[in-house]
Amino acid sequence: MFKKAGLITIMAALVLSVLAGWNAISEKEMVAHAKNKRPIIIQGPMPIEAENFAKRLDNVKVEKSGTFVFYKGTLNGYPVIVAKTGKGMENTAAATAIAIEKYKPAAIINQGTSGGHDADLNVYDIVLGKRTVNLGALKTTSKLENEGIDPTTWIPMDLMASEGSAGEDPNAEKARYYEGDAELLAAANAVKNTYKKGKIVEGTIGSADVWNNEVDRINWFHEKFGSSVEEMEGAAAAQMAKGYDVPFLGIRILSNNKVNGGKYDPNTAAANQEYVYEVVKKYIAEKKK
Ligand code: SAH
Repeated sequence: MFKKAGLITIMAALVLSVLAGWNAISEKEMVAHAKNKRPIIIQGPMPIEAENFAKRLDNVKVEKSGTFVFYKGTLNGYPVIVAKTGKGMENTAAATAIAIEKYKPAAIINQGTSGGHDADLNVYDIVLGKRTVNLGALKTTSKLENEGIDPTTWIPMDLMASEGSAGEDPNAEKARYYEGDAELLAAANAVKNTYKKGKIVEGTIGSADVWNNEVDRINWFHEKFGSSVEEMEGAAAAQMAKGYDVPFLGIRILSNNKVNGGKYDPNTAAANQEYVYEVVKKYIAEKKK
């Protein structure tokens, strides 16, 4: 009786240790395998816009650079890095350039919350950035002292038009749109139906270090720049990605929409990360083919 139980225990222990050994090897192999691949970087400005995604990664190692936090991990055995960039254009540009230099990413997704510029979009709807544009790059018209200020006459200014003076160059009097990468867009569109909290549309993401609450000003951007939403990071990341020729896509959920009275809801940040997780899985699956 005792003998039999002892034998079973030994056999069970043997089976378990072999299984554990196999697990350890396969995990090690997976990490080594992942190291040979160029990572996908998922950027989020605020903790609520990055940490949910970071928690979903395996084998996470945290690296810091200045105020930027990089959660280096794997997703289905493929290297993925979540970058908490901080808010705004400067933080995002620097975090993007550093990440590109350090990690040589295969692609970058900039994601998070945004404010609606389109009355047809509601809080929890998601905009895939077919284009991203800097809404803060503007040139004012010329007025003398006491002639006042007239923001609706301001014109877009393309800082990438030339290396010469943007203020003097008539060719720079246009908005610079950064195109969303076609493969990333295709992956995002392919998993649209996994998202149940709102609709998903392709559109234009506008960025600046400004939170616009004047509906007439928002409408002006919507008409002049075709902006679907505004936020404070996308165009900065897109500009860096373009400079280094890294595929880029902005994915922004509406957390508020002043145009149709949509109240700010911080829980949208988590909802967006859930969807972006599906996008990344799809993109990885396509890459593995
Ligand atoms: N009310 C928020 C403030 C967020 S700060 C809070 O107290 O937590 C701005 C961040 O939200 C930026 O990262 C920006 O990308 C995003 N954002 C969301 N809605 C925005 C809007 N209407 N205008 C500008 N940025 C917006």
